[in-house]
Amino acid sequence: PESEADESASGHGGNADNQGNDRGAPQLVLVIPCYNEQDVLPITLPVLNTKLSDLEKRGFITENSYILLVDDGSHDSTWSIIESGHSRYPTKVHGLKFSHNRGHQNALYAGLMEALNRGCDAAISMDADLQDDPDAIDAMVKEYAKGNDIVYGVRDNRDTDTVFKRSTADLFYKMMSWLGTDTIPNHADYRLMSRTALEALSHYTEVNLFLRGIVPSLGFPHSKVYYKRGSRAAGESKYPLKKMMSFAVEGITSFSITPLRAITGIGLISVAVGIVILVYVLVSFFSGRTVAGWGSVMCSIWILGGLILSGIGVVGEYVGRIYLEVKHRPRYIVEERI
Ligand code: UDP
Ligand code: MG
Repeated sequence: PESEADESASGHGGNADNQGNDRGAPQLVLVIPCYNEQDVLPITLPVLNTKLSDLEKRGFITENSYILLVDDGSHDSTWSIIESGHSRYPTKVHGLKFSHNRGHQNALYAGLMEALNRGCDAAISMDADLQDDPDAIDAMVKEYAKGNDIVYGVRDNRDTDTVFKRSTADLFYKMMSWLGTDTIPNHADYRLMSRTALEALSHYTEVNLFLRGIVPSLGFPHSKVYYKRGSRAAGESKYPLKKMMSFAVEGITSFSITPLRAITGIGLISVAVGIVILVYVLVSFFSGRTVAGWGSVMCSIWILGGLILSGIGVVGEYVGRIYLEVKHRPRYIVEERI
């Protein structure tokens, strides 16, 4: 059953004691994937640290809660900022460094599993750029206390997005639901997961992860918290169009094999050429300048050829997916921990 949090993220206060706790205050870990985030981390760390101390003082979370930054193979000074963050807030800032860029989803997963293995009660995954409003954490923890194992952060506006991003995102969510994958519209990866939910997640062994599809399929009592998504506090998006598109295809097929996809593309172009020829043939036919048999043969070759190539491409997507899963390579390699 889904109970919607009627409270918006911002502008609520309150006391942990008056919420009819089903469970005690959790040890909370904030899991933050960071890829080339040197511009924004110096802003993010103090904000999140203040947030944690505030929640601790109000008895919402235990005092051993902390921030876990996962450096996804950055090329800038992200890791040294994490190290100095640790020197400044030794108990609050912890880090995990990948030896190579493995992508947002793997960085998130690594952080969540690290938090689970270290014995947390709940973990919240959020972006490094403060677009996920930290004030929504209060409402998430309250939902957790009510007994929810997963709390989704859902954005209540897309004002800060470009028209392009907004419409492609809409199309993506529509396509996902049309293909039968359960995703929460307007929910990115800002969510709280309890220890129970994290344990369930740890059994998902697929190499290519699409957490927005996996997490809703876990079940468990869950709820939503609405928040206002701001713009990036500093730095630039680490999701250029190419990464965004490949993320979308991964979500749909859970994979991407470039040469096979090229076959699909060529097939579609061939179908388009066939249709152009068809139009030409029809025009010639009605203007009486036609050679018998030529038109139907040309159209059949191009359209059928195109459909066959696209078909092979789609099959290829899934064969490629099996190939990559079968190798079962590690999702990421951890180089250092603090
Ligand atoms: N990120 C990552 N690895 C990548 C790309 C992005 O860990 O290869 C992180 C990034 O540091 C940020 C989060 O994923 O914390 C979301 O990225 P971003 O804010 O750039 O995406 P946008 O909000 O523009 O969609
Ligand atoms: Mg962002």
